[in-house]
Amino acid sequence: MLQQTQVATVLPYFQRFIERYPDVHSLALAPIEDVMVLWAGLGYYARAHNLHACARAIVERHGGRFPRTCEALASLPGIGRSTAGAIAAFCCGERAAILDGNVKRVLARHWAIEGDPASSGVAGMLWERAQCELPSAQRMAAYTQAIMDLGATVCTRARPACGHCPVNASCQARRTGRTGELPTPRARRERPVRSAHVLIALAGQAVLLQQREAKGIWAGLLCLPEFASRAALQRRARSLGATGQSLLSLPPRRHALTHLMLAIEPYVALTEAAPPAAESGAARWVALGTIDHAPLPAPHRALLLELRKTIAAAAVGA
Ligand code: SF4
Repeated sequence: MLQQTQVATVLPYFQRFIERYPDVHSLALAPIEDVMVLWAGLGYYARAHNLHACARAIVERHGGRFPRTCEALASLPGIGRSTAGAIAAFCCGERAAILDGNVKRVLARHWAIEGDPASSGVAGMLWERAQCELPSAQRMAAYTQAIMDLGATVCTRARPACGHCPVNASCQARRTGRTGELPTPRARRERPVRSAHVLIALAGQAVLLQQREAKGIWAGLLCLPEFASRAALQRRARSLGATGQSLLSLPPRRHALTHLMLAIEPYVALTEAAPPAAESGAARWVALGTIDHAPLPAPHRALLLELRKTIAAAAVGA
């Protein structure tokens, strides 16, 4: 949960999650839809899928016990080399290196390693250095915690507190006055923009939602139906019984994802007075009153909450 997300944001989600799934067995047995409900709003949904798949793999392949080596841990879904190293170091005292963002910064500065740390060549040098620095197995847990904390609290991105740093005597970046230049900043790349024509089909107090496939953006979440063009959206709205006049466009908005920018163009379509009992495939009608707890991605939830507020205000005014 803490990957890319701040502690304060994670806390309530973590609390609810751990109460519902207190151990690896309960999580492995849970349907993915239930897991997604608890994750809804936290973003980066691949983490929830990976966590669930990981729990299942631990139960199915390891009899419900976590593997004890870095190599075996790294073969589980969602656990990369650095996370596997951290678990192995903390829980088993294995001499396994970690290389999260904070540790990369400490090593790049201390050893004056230049170049984009995300590039494979530089990452290779950093891994090599991280491995060389490891202490004995008895000191692995303390060392791993210390280097993580050093990066998080002393060797910070902006204005590192070099005067208080326990390794300042041997730090090459400090000695050469290059703490501001290292690690080498990543070249900025503009995110590509993708248009998303989003249909808010209303039938009375229900809205049509569609469960996304298990892969891709917002995998497994309930979403408003999305179309590549306005014409395709209109065709779908007509198939639901909406007339041309009942299609209303809302102000466009943008939503940034890790790798692209979504340019969302929302349209409201008023369809039948009562929702059809069932829709095809992954589509389903959901009461507007229950969307607070539905596993929706943040921009779709925001659209529906705004709409619900507008409908409620109009009802009061009528
Ligand atoms: S001396 Fe400064 S730049 Fe070097 S590791 Fe310590 S805090 Fe980071």
